[in-house]
Amino acid sequence: MKDYVALTRCYFCGEADRILLATRYHRVGNDMEPIHDLKPFHDKVMDMEPCTKCAGFMKQGIILMTIDPDLSEKDWNKQPIPNPYRAGGFFVVTEEAIRRMLQKNKVMLDWCLKHRWMFIEHKAAKLAGLYDHITER
Ligand SMILES: [Zn+2]
Repeated sequence: MKDYVALTRCYFCGEADRILLATRYHRVGNDMEPIHDLKPFHDKVMDMEPCTKCAGFMKQGIILMTIDPDLSEKDWNKQPIPNPYRAGGFFVVTEEAIRRMLQKNKVMLDWCLKHRWMFIEHKAAKLAGLYDHITER
């Protein structure tokens, strides 16, 4: 049985994002079945479009997501949808803060200001003080 609906995940926050619905069906016996099975897309990140919430964050500032390069697959940054090991940190910082953090790296800074997000090594995030202002829940 093919699935006619799938719920994709947001690349940035990992939360449920968009519903994909099969649009083309054909007849199988007495039933209509989707031509393309959407099962493989369920729970998967399909593209790098932010969900509504993340798009809002990107308007306010830059999303920083912490990663652990040692636990990431080799060449993760050469994939069309890069998928490094996420260390779990998710921050939204102001443009001013990112300008300070990347003052020595103009290429990276320009990329960030344009794309509104960046992966940051967990260690670097700690050094940059990102964890200093977090109150325990
Ligand atoms: Zn999101």
